[in-house]
Amino acid sequence: MIGVLGGGQLGRMLGIAGVSLGKKFVFVDPNPEAGAKSVGQLIVGDYDDEVSLRALAEACEVVTYEFENVPLRAAEMLDELVPLRPSPRALELMQDRLSEKRLFEYLHIPAAAFIPADSEDELRAAASDLGLPVVVKTRREGYDGKGQRVVRDSAELDGLWAELGEVPLLVEAFIDFDRELSVIGVRAEDGDSKFYPLTENTHRDGILRVSVAPADVSAETQAEGEEIAASIMEALGYVGVLSVELFEKDGILAANEMAPRVHNSGHWTIEGADTSQFENHLRAILGLPLGSTAPRGVSAMVNLIGELPTSSDVLAIEGAHLHLYDKTPRSGRKLGHVTITAVGVEVLLARLEELGKIENIGI
Ligand code: AMP
Repeated sequence: MIGVLGGGQLGRMLGIAGVSLGKKFVFVDPNPEAGAKSVGQLIVGDYDDEVSLRALAEACEVVTYEFENVPLRAAEMLDELVPLRPSPRALELMQDRLSEKRLFEYLHIPAAAFIPADSEDELRAAASDLGLPVVVKTRREGYDGKGQRVVRDSAELDGLWAELGEVPLLVEAFIDFDRELSVIGVRAEDGDSKFYPLTENTHRDGILRVSVAPADVSAETQAEGEEIAASIMEALGYVGVLSVELFEKDGILAANEMAPRVHNSGHWTIEGADTSQFENHLRAILGLPLGSTAPRGVSAMVNLIGELPTSSDVLAIEGAHLHLYDKTPRSGRKLGHVTITAVGVEVLLARLEELGKIENIGI
């Protein structure tokens, strides 16, 4: 039995991948309707509920998590009872944008210049030291563009400290990037590591819309991306899938942020790679050999956000694969995704154009 903290779509897709490995799953989630309940047992409870966590540890050979805002205390407590992978240390580091940035600095990974700010005065001083524009982010619990603002004019700093909740912040220099990429790596207990081809990602309103893989990058850029992920995984003795979001400017990569888990920009790997990110995460945490990360042709992943298209319209497109997360539609909510595969880029773009014509696809 494999335990997963969180029962959202990432947990659900981990479960789907694990069934073919002969594994059973138990998820912990406060939401009784969590989408992962269709692929395993669901313990409805808060992540810091000791009774739920003990029940989880007793039933499982290994526990993982599908989102990084699991309370650290819960992760540490679990790890004393049953292996928690990736480790509580990796989780702790990636829960805080400041410690992430410090790790990048320590490993000489290029990233935006940054200054932490713990008060309104410090926020103004940091913006002035870095020079506008800056990106102001809450150190903790931001996702999908929430808890952050781009500040282009000093008047936009008025009220921002209160608006972001008077919490510790990170102020970053604005990077005028050419495009956004991501690298997904996986590392086994014995240090064996594999990397997927870099993925090119397009966001709108802070939410990932489309990923294309393999991204059209040089062999040097691919190697640079892999080196970034490899150095982080090595430094942390990491076990599992690690995702790093990157900016590319004039062919040079800078790290933006990372996540100690499977990632939305890796969903294309289900059909588009020899082994999916979900299966490879499970292989890593179970101590099994890692699978090939080689691409199968080219892929585009399109998130279904807020509203759903008609399934038959999507499935009528050759090479289209539909993934629905069993979530109630709500504005801005990720409800599913479509991956389109093709043997070459031209065919892929034609299929993507067809997909774009369908109502509620939103690309
Ligand atoms: P994050 O939550 O850090 O992934 O940021 C969400 C999005 O904001 C990124 O995907 C970028 O599009 C943008 N962004 C974040 N940091 C910066 C930065 N330092 N410079 C420019 N854009 C940024």
